[in-house]
Order: sequence, then C-alpha cells, then structure tokens
Amino acid sequence: MKADIRVCGASVHERPRYTLAETCPDCGAETENSAPAPYNPEDRYGEYRRRVKRRERDG
Ligand SMILES: [Zn+2]
Repeated sequence: MKADIRVCGASVHERPRYTLAETCPDCGAETENSAPAPYNPEDRYGEYRRRVKRRERDG
C-alpha cells in the first residue's frame, strides 16, 4: 500500500516539510499531496527529463 505522503503548503520551511498529517506539525498550515505536483520550482530540469523519457519510449 502506497503511503500518502504530504508536503507543507507554506513556504516557511527551508526544505520541503513532509508529513503524513493533513496539517503541518511545525507551522500548522494545510499540507498537499506531494505526489502529483504539477510544477516544482526546485526541479528546473524536470521538463528536460520528461522529454528525454518520452524520446526513449518513442525510440
Ligand atoms: Zn509547515
């Protein structure tokens, strides 16, 4: 069974604050499901990686 890992939605943490709770144990903000994040500002090469993956599948 896949764990529902969530991440704090507030930007008060130096690093992503992962938790299983629906509210951040540190700052009390609502957390979001970490899995389907459409855009990660820290993952600048995400699009490039996805493009490579797609090319591999096509080739
Ligand atoms: Zn927090």
